[in-house]
Amino acid sequence: MAGYDYDLFVIGAGSGGVRAGRLAAATGARVAVAEEYRVGGTCVIRGCVPKKFMVYASEFSGAFKAARGFGWTIGETSFDWETFLEAKDIEIARLSGIYVTNLENAGADIILSRAELKDAHTVWLPAQNRTVTADKILIATGGRPTVPRGLPGVELAITSNEAFHLPKLPKRILVVGGGYIAVEFAGIFNGLGVETTLLYRGPNILRGFDNDVRAHLTGELEKRGIKVILSCQHASLEKSPTGIVSHLTSGHAHETDVVMFATGREPYTHGLGLEAAGVALNPRGAVIVDDFSRTNVENIWAVGDVTDRINLTPVAIREGAAFAETVFRNNPMSFDHDTVASAVFSQPPVGSVGLSEADARHAGHKVVVYRSVFRPMKTTFYGGEERMLMKLVVDGETHRVLGCHIVGPDSPEMIQMAAIAIKLGVTKQQWDQTCAVHPTAAEELVTMREPYVAPGMTMGG
Ligand code: NDP
Repeated sequence: MAGYDYDLFVIGAGSGGVRAGRLAAATGARVAVAEEYRVGGTCVIRGCVPKKFMVYASEFSGAFKAARGFGWTIGETSFDWETFLEAKDIEIARLSGIYVTNLENAGADIILSRAELKDAHTVWLPAQNRTVTADKILIATGGRPTVPRGLPGVELAITSNEAFHLPKLPKRILVVGGGYIAVEFAGIFNGLGVETTLLYRGPNILRGFDNDVRAHLTGELEKRGIKVILSCQHASLEKSPTGIVSHLTSGHAHETDVVMFATGREPYTHGLGLEAAGVALNPRGAVIVDDFSRTNVENIWAVGDVTDRINLTPVAIREGAAFAETVFRNNPMSFDHDTVASAVFSQPPVGSVGLSEADARHAGHKVVVYRSVFRPMKTTFYGGEERMLMKLVVDGETHRVLGCHIVGPDSPEMIQMAAIAIKLGVTKQQWDQTCAVHPTAAEELVTMREPYVAPGMTMGG
């Protein structure tokens, strides 16, 4: 190790890199963490955290409506985008500062520069015009938005990166895609009063989620005023005197002020010098790693979205922690990627853990479904049309709960708790022994007694 400038060089100060760097530095290792943009990474700077603030901001329009039903007189309301952006940016700067402090307190050096590998132990820092050497390297550069390559006019569109800093709130927006980011931003803009259209190429949004969740959420988005266009995509985009015109494969043209592509993210590996270091990538450009996040090069590891395993912040953090534990504490640890819960902060939100009904059937389980669709209590006073969906996917032979899927208020909070039980292998009987908490929506989860048989299906089929 002597002879190298650092014991560990981390490329990328996002969730995974910061956690790994901090834990490694706390063991006394000489650690540097390089960041080319802002410390905190996608999650803190232009992802989960500012997105959640935007969700909060946009939910007030619905809250004002509900309040009237409960007897409140609400005067004229309006939303000021610039005030929100300023408050959001102050908080993001504060959080980024905490990341910096935590790294410094652990004894790590923060290097504000892009970092590129020259070989497996040498890192070039263009912003500082110097190279440093390190015994071990951790790649934690995350991902970045992608847009369909070669689509005429695609340069007129923005991605989520720009959505956090729009100079002004548009009157109309077209959000393209049917994944997490698309449905979340469609809800945000709609709640802020923007005329919102969601355009998705497939027949049903949120591919990979339970089919009931997907259909239910589409209906709820429409009830809230989002125009959802399915099975359709762009042929081209062009500027018009009054906005941007999207020419669609259906033959229709759609004019709007802003087009936002939320068509996926790709691992950020380009130009990192990984070829020079001999690090192998998969066809999607993600770094290939083993269960311990080690690459094919003996002294180089990678964690988080750059490895394209499960692209979620808490997963990157766990991978980073497991790396530090394995490599710097001599305590081999790998993160278990099975049964990771996630939430989509659409409006209403989705909470999901475990297998969808379709995946359970494909895996050969004799599936029994429990399902409840009901009106959330809060909506009754103002005549809201919203409906909540709860669904349990159970193995009919072992009675194990394989999956839990919720669409409705507070579902992200509920799913965190359900995930504990499901991760531990809870059976439906054990689940039902849990007494309800009343009056809540969540009590419905433990009071679903009768199996649900969808039209045309047989139970346990
Ligand atoms: P996703 O992979 O979730 O969704 C991408 C969407 O874009 C899909 O609907 C996909 O369609 C569509 N798409 C892809 N290529 C094209 C194309 N050429 N033309 C038209 N549509 C296209 O990516 P996101 O960008 O939404 O999010 C990236 C990742 O970030 C997520 O997978 C998630 O892991 C993470 N994330 C998590 C959040 C959370 O935890 N709440 C929030 C935001 C992001 P199809 O389904 O047909 O492939």
